[in-house]
Amino acid sequence: MTTSPLMPAWGVDHLPTLLAHCRRCGTYTFPSNAWGCRECGDDTLDKVPMPQTPRLRNFITVYGDVAPGLTSPVVVGEVEIAPGVVEEALIAVADESQLKLDMPMEAIGADSADTQRGLRFRPLKAQR
Ligand SMILES: [Zn+2]
Repeated sequence: MTTSPLMPAWGVDHLPTLLAHCRRCGTYTFPSNAWGCRECGDDTLDKVPMPQTPRLRNFITVYGDVAPGLTSPVVVGEVEIAPGVVEEALIAVADESQLKLDMPMEAIGADSADTQRGLRFRPLKAQR
């Protein structure tokens, strides 16, 4: 199956193969190194970029101890990165007043040594 994804909004070059796309049923699975399709269990998975502009589905500001290396408060969001795939991730904003539900987001890496687990998002700038 040939997919023609929208241009992914990567902040760093090494993140593009983020999702696994099932050849059998077409379901997207995250992360791309999953053992099998989350829908049908098939292991014929292709690593693919995000097929859509990520959308912010929910967000919350977390106070108190969050995780080592993070200074609270932090904004955590649920971001839809593919149909039916919603991931919890840090949202790189100063505070949640900059956020609106369902707004388009872009993925960025936390730093140059980043992996999929360091994935973060920020609001997609209007001009592109
Ligand atoms: Zn499948």
